[in-house]
Amino acid sequence: MTTIYNFSAGPAVLPKEVLQQAAAEMLDWHGSGMSVMEMSHRGPEFMSIMAAAQSDLRELLAVPANYKILFLQGGGLAENAIVPMNLMGRKPQPATADFIHTGSWTAKSIKEARKYGNVNIAASAEASGFNVVPVRASWNLSKDAAYVHICSNETIDGVEYHFTPEVGDDTGEAPIVADMSSQILSRVIDVSKYGVIFGGAQKNIGPAGLTIVIVRDDLLGHALPCCPSAFDWKIVADNDSMYNTPPTYAIYIAGLVFQWLKRQGGVAAIEQKNIAKAKLLYDFLDASDFYLNRIEKDCRSRMNVPFFLRDETHNAAFLAAAKERGLLQIKGHKSVGGMRASIYNAMPIEGVQALVNFMQEFASSHA
Ligand code: PMP
Repeated sequence: MTTIYNFSAGPAVLPKEVLQQAAAEMLDWHGSGMSVMEMSHRGPEFMSIMAAAQSDLRELLAVPANYKILFLQGGGLAENAIVPMNLMGRKPQPATADFIHTGSWTAKSIKEARKYGNVNIAASAEASGFNVVPVRASWNLSKDAAYVHICSNETIDGVEYHFTPEVGDDTGEAPIVADMSSQILSRVIDVSKYGVIFGGAQKNIGPAGLTIVIVRDDLLGHALPCCPSAFDWKIVADNDSMYNTPPTYAIYIAGLVFQWLKRQGGVAAIEQKNIAKAKLLYDFLDASDFYLNRIEKDCRSRMNVPFFLRDETHNAAFLAAAKERGLLQIKGHKSVGGMRASIYNAMPIEGVQALVNFMQEFASSHA
C-alpha cells in the first residue's frame, strides 16, 4: 500500500497516534460513557480536558505566569478584527497600529485593522515581491502605536522571521502582536518578547475551529465599546475561556497533540527535526535547475516551502504524478501559483525524503 504524506497548508496533517487515540476514545471517553463531543463544557470530564490542554500548552511554550492562554473561535482572520478591538483602546482615539507587511496574511490584517483605527505600514517587503522579512533596522515605527503587528510566518509566501523582533525605545511600550498561525509550536520562542500571540489551530495544533490567543495581563481590559463580549479578551480570560461554549472537540484533539509533542521531547526537539526537514527540501531545490524557490535564504519558512517548476507547462503532470505516489495537497495557493509543501510538526522527515525522491525522478524524466 502506498504511504500517504499530506502536505496541506491547513487544515493539515495530524500525528497518526493522536488520530488513533481519538478514534479509540470516540464513543466512550475514559469510561465516562460519553464521546467528548457529547459532554457539557462545564462538566468535570471536559473541565479536566481543558485544564490539561492549557497547562500542557503553557509548559510547551514556557508561557510566563503573567500571560493568559485563551481558547477562542473565529480563526486567524477573526483575530484581525479582534486584536484591534482589544488593543486600539489603549491609546486616545483614533489610535494607530504599526504593521510590518510581509505578504498575503499581513495584507488581510492591515485591511481589517483599518476599520478600527489608523494603520501605519512601518516596513513592507512589497517591492521585493514579498520574498524577505524587512530587517528590524528599517522599521519606521510610530511614536505612540497601540501595538505593532507582525506575521511571524507567511503561510502562502513562505517567508518566516528568524529573529525575535525587539521594540522598545522608539515605540514607547507598544507590544508586539504576532500572528503565529503557521509557526506556533514549530520552534522555541521567547513569549515574554510579545504582547499577544495568536493563531488558528489547524496547522501545528489540531483541527480548525480553535483559535489560540496568548496575551499579557496588562493588555486585557482595553476593548473598544464595539467589541463583542465573546471576543473581549478580559471577559474571556475572567471566564477561563468558558464565557461562551468553547470548541470542545477541537480543544480535546489539541490536548492530545500537546501530549504527543511532549512525548517527542517538546518544542526544542521538534525544532531540530523541523530544521532538518526544511534543509533537506531547500538544499534539493537550490541544487536543482528544474525547480525554483524565490525566497531569500535567511527568510525562508521552515513550515511552508513554496516552489515552482521552471517550466510550468509540467505543473498538471507533476501534481497528478505526486498524487499517484501518495504525496497529497502540494498545489500552491492560487494567489501565487506553483507548488507548496507544508511540512508541519506532524510531517515526518520520511515524508520530505519521499517528496524529494519523487521530485528528483520527475525532473529526470521531464528535463
Ligand atoms: N494567518 C495566517 C498566517 C494563516 O496561515 C491563516 C490561514 N492559513 C490565517 C491567518 C487565517 O486563518 P483562518 O482561516 O483560521 O481564519
